[in-house]
Parts: sequence; structure tokens; C-alpha cells
Amino acid sequence: MPVDLGFVEKCDAWRLECRFFPSKVGGKPAWLNLRDIPGEKDLRCEYCQEPCIFLCQIYAPYEDNETAFHRTIYVFICKKPECCKLNENGNLKVFRSQLPRTNEFYSSEPPVEEPDWRTDLNTSKWVKTCQVCGIYASNHCSKCKQVNYCCRIHQVFDWKSTHKESCGTNRYVVTNSKILFPEYEIIIETEDEKEDNNEINSEKEKEEIEKYENMLEKGETGTFQDEDVQTELLSMAKQKEDETFAEFRLTVDKYPDQILRYDRGGKILYISGESKIDEVPKCLECNQERQFEFQIMPQLLNFLNLEDTLKCIDWGILTIFTCKNSCPSKNGYSAEYVWKQDIIETNSD
Ligand SMILES: [Zn+2]
Ligand SMILES: [Zn+2]
Ligand SMILES: [Zn+2]
Ligand SMILES: [Zn+2]
Repeated sequence: MPVDLGFVEKCDAWRLECRFFPSKVGGKPAWLNLRDIPGEKDLRCEYCQEPCIFLCQIYAPYEDNETAFHRTIYVFICKKPECCKLNENGNLKVFRSQLPRTNEFYSSEPPVEEPDWRTDLNTSKWVKTCQVCGIYASNHCSKCKQVNYCCRIHQVFDWKSTHKESCGTNRYVVTNSKILFPEYEIIIETEDEKEDNNEINSEKEKEEIEKYENMLEKGETGTFQDEDVQTELLSMAKQKEDETFAEFRLTVDKYPDQILRYDRGGKILYISGESKIDEVPKCLECNQERQFEFQIMPQLLNFLNLEDTLKCIDWGILTIFTCKNSCPSKNGYSAEYVWKQDIIETNSD
């Protein structure tokens, strides 16, 4: 099965609203289940305790699962650079939501792609959302009681940036806050398998390295008294690391703007030969295995308007694992697993 690739594209904001089941980057989340949405406690960064911010969502139904006629995966990230720790995932959150075709929120007929079609299909009828970040809001402005917040931090942020001026004036302008990432539609295209001439060469290299590794294991290297041979072995081992990266580059270069690779039940395209994933925790709801579903590529970082490129959020790849059964969530949204792989910087200055 070919891999589906995701690319970002600017589009009219109305197309990215809940009623059209979008796949998108940035802005506020377009919730699928409109009522039982995650709140600040669910999205708290493990390191700084502030809520993670919406990064992207993928609409990915399961054809053979009636309970997942609609299905969306949401990814959130803490915006603090210092919370990006090497190969650690405490600054990331993933949720899965799904609905059967007949459900309490949407019509069972497909949406009509027009700006003013069913604009009532949103969370406002069901639940209050944070003015700043769009997650479940437990607080509101005590002065005007007109705007809602997920936490004190976002309330203070909004007060300082706009609400101080608009509180009590009935002009509640929804400005796209600086906290949110810029909004794009995600377009999915199939990756064409191009003829790959380098394949044969890299296969040979792999064999060579494996031969040396076997020797290492058997302790045969001790027979090499020659220092040059030892050095060569070292450089071979290093080459093997680079090989993973080279393969990554080779694959990505065919479609250099890809921000996402969707390959449910497929394999991770690793960016580094070091620290590969070893264990994925089972689904918290049904205790079944989780499987690889998609990975977010470092290219997405280029579209996030990160001001200081030296000190900003970062990742090599973000890999998303979800319940193999895609079991129905008890509370509307199920937490899923994300694993981050980084490239270790060799030149530190
Ligand atoms: Zn944080
Ligand atoms: Zn908020
Ligand atoms: Zn107010
Ligand atoms: Zn499950």
C-alpha cells in the first residue's frame, strides 16, 4: 500500500470548521464530538503545567468500523522551547475522537460545501470553549461573563492582549491570538513509488555493515591489532547511523514539502538510527495493541511562523500510535500515544 502524504495549503477559514470534518494545521481545533472536548487538565504539559496548543488534526475514518464512520486524530504541543526534551514526549498530547454515521451532532448526509451552510454545527450549543486556545473552558471573565477561558494563564494573556479594551463593550472581536499556530488545510496525496537506483547500493552497504557487526559480536575484532582497522569499524558503525538519515532524506526528497506521512499499520520512516522506539503502551480504553498511524515531519516547523529559529519548538519526527481496533471512546476523546524522535546535534555552539 502506498503512503499518503500531507501538504499544507492556505484556504478560506470557513472550510476548516467542524461541520466540514477538516484535516488542518493551526488555529483552534475543529472538534468532532462537539460536547465532551478535552480541557486544560487533559492537555497540561508534563514539564511546565501549561496547556498544550493545538498543532494539527487528521480526518481519518475507518471504513470497516461503524463506530468510526467519522474519525479525527488531534495533536497538541507545548509552545515552550525548553519543554522540547530530546526524544521525550511530555510536551505532546494526542486525542482520537470518532462517531457513527448517525449521531447526535451531525446529519447523516454529507455536508454541502458552502460558507453559510449549517453554521450552527459547532461547539457553542453544547459546551464553552477557551477564547484563546479553543479547548474546554471552565472559567469566564468575572466582569462581563461573556468570554470563557480554559485556565488563568490564558485569561491573563487575553486580558493583556485585547480583552482589557473590549470587556463590557459587547465588541468581542475574536482575534487569532499569537498563541495559536497559523492555520492551513492539509491536502492528502498518494506517494508515487519512483524508481530508486540507490536501493541496490545501499543494500550492499547494509550487508557489509552487518558482516562487521557480526564480527564485533563474536569478538573477532580483537584479532585486529591494526589500529586502522579499528578506526574503520568505528566509521562503519557511524555510517550505519547516517544510513537511516540518508534513507530518510532520499524518501523525503521526492516530495520535499511533505509535512505528514499517513500509513496506518505501516512503518515509521525514522530520521535517525539512534533510539528507535521499543514499546508502545496499549490502548487505555480497551487494552488492545496500538499501531502506527502517521508521522508528522520536520517540514511542518517551516510553516509555523516560529520567530526565533534557534530557540523554538523542534522535533525530528512525531509518530502517532492509535488503538488498532479504534474502539469507541467512553468520554468522547481517547488519549493516544505520540513518540518523538530528534536528531542529535553534533556541533554545539
Ligand atoms: Zn511545557
Ligand atoms: Zn485556553
Ligand atoms: Zn470581560
Ligand atoms: Zn482501544
